[in-house]
Amino acid sequence: MDLKEYDKKRNFSKTKEPKGSKKNKSNSDLIFVIQKHNASRLHYDFRLEWDGVLLSWAVPKGPSYNTKDKRLAIEVEDHPYDYKDFEGTIPEGEYGAGTVMLWDEGTWKPQENHDFNKGLEDGNIKIEINGKRLKGRWALIRMKKKPKDKQNNWLLIKEKDEYALNNDGINKFTTSIRSGKSLEEIASS
Ligand code: MN
Repeated sequence: MDLKEYDKKRNFSKTKEPKGSKKNKSNSDLIFVIQKHNASRLHYDFRLEWDGVLLSWAVPKGPSYNTKDKRLAIEVEDHPYDYKDFEGTIPEGEYGAGTVMLWDEGTWKPQENHDFNKGLEDGNIKIEINGKRLKGRWALIRMKKKPKDKQNNWLLIKEKDEYALNNDGINKFTTSIRSGKSLEEIASS
């Protein structure tokens, strides 16, 4: 886990995104955040705190509460812990240009008896999320592993539990979990 790639992609005199720094070890719960990102293509950024950084995936369609849905989740570079607070607009011409909304936040943990580091290695992650909008058990399954310099594709899948639904269950959430603003309101503020 390191933030070199994150820093390399960004010009911090132009973007207000946080500079890469790792969080010091602590005993507090692991956090997770989802940012809705209106970039060249709208997607949701799914981020899990691990080893002082935020492991990150771009999910074009966003998560789904329907256990039959398999949502493509493209592995992207680790993000700094402080990215959990970023909401705003990345300027035109910069990497990821567009508006970012804090769409969900909360804590997460590996599912019982799941070795998360081994799961990362094997491409089979089992997590339990306690967000405001996203809850319960979820899995991330890596498809065919690509060479080191290539982005891996994963599938984000809801597992059967008391929170599972027959529809994706996320369309009703159109505003920021933190500021209450819509994407348009964030863009113009
Ligand atoms: Mn993004």
